[in-house]
Amino acid sequence: MTVSIGYINGKYVELDELAIPIEERGHQFGDGVYEVIRYYDGKGFMLEEHLERLKESTEAIRINLEGGIEPIRSIIEEGVKKAGIPDCYVYLQITRGIAERNHLFPGSEVKPSISMTVKKMVPRKKEAEEGVGVITHPDERWANCYIKSLNLLPNILAKQTAADAGCFEAILIKDNYVTEGTQSTMFIVEGVTVVTPPLSKQILPGITRIAVLDICKIAGIKLEEREISKEELFNADEVFLTSTMSEVMPITSIDNQKVGTGEPGNITKVLMELFVAKRSK
Ligand code: PMP
Repeated sequence: MTVSIGYINGKYVELDELAIPIEERGHQFGDGVYEVIRYYDGKGFMLEEHLERLKESTEAIRINLEGGIEPIRSIIEEGVKKAGIPDCYVYLQITRGIAERNHLFPGSEVKPSISMTVKKMVPRKKEAEEGVGVITHPDERWANCYIKSLNLLPNILAKQTAADAGCFEAILIKDNYVTEGTQSTMFIVEGVTVVTPPLSKQILPGITRIAVLDICKIAGIKLEEREISKEELFNADEVFLTSTMSEVMPITSIDNQKVGTGEPGNITKVLMELFVAKRSK
């Protein structure tokens, strides 16, 4: 059994409790944004950056948070304390609230809904050690992927296609270039240079991406932020993905073709070690 707690609009609930009214806009329209944060040993990893991204996402979809982002920090910190799970992950959703179904925004009397789950984290050790296989898949998402929107249908469909092929993730391709994974940021290594696509409206500004860029800078690893073509992806010496849940994860095959030697690459392994050191601080 997984250890977990749920929270909705000021109330702690069991995860299977019927807690959300049918006219919740998150449910009916996907009209909201979310964030996912890892806690290591009771401490939120890069919590400030996650809160900042959440603030930017709410602003981008014009959800007005009374009191700003600080009350959200308190909800998260209290939830983690209450759950009593030092190594956990938090999903927090903010929606435009509960109102009679209408595409138009409700009046200002309708407050945003805040819901959260806190669950025990089981690290993806085997995958990290051995590396994972991925597929490529057309990027069928909308034009504002920098917003961490609850609307994840294209991500879900691509991820399921990957799982059906026995793979861990789908690398999304737009106009012959890599954007990102369905739930992750993409990196390749060419020789001694680490390459990742630049921030744009087409990708989520990954928090783990920030961590890896920092690590590269400090360790003197050459890094380029530039577009990666599909050809470059297939010819890369190493490929890895990053995310809050998967940390730094080596990719050892793409569409059944080996990446490099077919084993996790050396620079990837160095970055994995440095990432563990960074988050254990
Ligand atoms: N891109 C997408 C589409 C994602 O869902 C995620 C996971 N949050 C990421 C990238 C990686 O972001 P982060 O490192 O902040 O988890």
